[in-house]
Amino acid sequence: MREFRFVLTPFCNYKCFFCHSECINEGISLQLTPSDYEFMAKVARDQLVWTTCTLTGGEPLISPIFKEVCERFRRLGIATTVVTNASLLARPEELLKDISQINVSVHTMNPDTYKRITQIGYPLESILNTIAMTREKLPELEIHLNYTVIKGMNDSDEEFEQFLRFARKVRARAKFIDLSTTDENLKTDAREIVKQLEALGFKLEDENAWQYHLVRAGEKTTVTKCPFNGKYEDLPARDVFVDPNGMIYRSYGGYFSVDALSEIKSRDADGLIGKIRVLINYS
Ligand code: SF4
Repeated sequence: MREFRFVLTPFCNYKCFFCHSECINEGISLQLTPSDYEFMAKVARDQLVWTTCTLTGGEPLISPIFKEVCERFRRLGIATTVVTNASLLARPEELLKDISQINVSVHTMNPDTYKRITQIGYPLESILNTIAMTREKLPELEIHLNYTVIKGMNDSDEEFEQFLRFARKVRARAKFIDLSTTDENLKTDAREIVKQLEALGFKLEDENAWQYHLVRAGEKTTVTKCPFNGKYEDLPARDVFVDPNGMIYRSYGGYFSVDALSEIKSRDADGLIGKIRVLINYS
């Protein structure tokens, strides 16, 4: 286990057809405050030596407490990553001033495919411009671009190369993710994506249970397995998710969770750590 992934909100302004909402149901209420998040991050830092965390959703930039949470984490010395669709990133220098890394969901270089995936009218061009502007305003920010590979929709060599070219241009890490879905017509497999990248000249440099790291003439890329929909439930869990109700669960989501709301609200650090350890050790 390496960090907390805080699902700041289940809500999103997009409607991607493959969205798993980190296994969170939109019906839940938002019970955690910025100081609750600060308490959890501090406990994890002091007792588990977790010095990073990720804010996810839904779309975390929708959350009214986003900025305050980021600021509190920065003061604790926690390096924060934000997973975002970048549509609300009008002023990156302001919104991301306390952030170490953003993971932007791009998924395609084709404007029509982007609309088919996201099921809203927001143009891909604006997202690409926002990413380029973010790079310009925040030269030190680590930027990762996520590309969920969908069979027959965005999996051509040409589109992979276009995406890799854009990532090079904005000095970002291109990250391919297999699509985990019950629809066999769209499903992709991480190992097959690796083979396709090898055919494009990449060499496998390193791998672990969840990721493959490849390199081509100094250009690095990653293929990650999607932990949702039960496809890889035999693999070791990577992270601990926290939903806005104070339920905590492991990275493949939903199958085993514990309610830590009372420990969070009463600032019971030992109780919270005890519940996290139960979750980590559950098999
Ligand atoms: S942008 Fe992310 S959270 Fe929003 S609908 Fe798409 S996949 Fe889901």
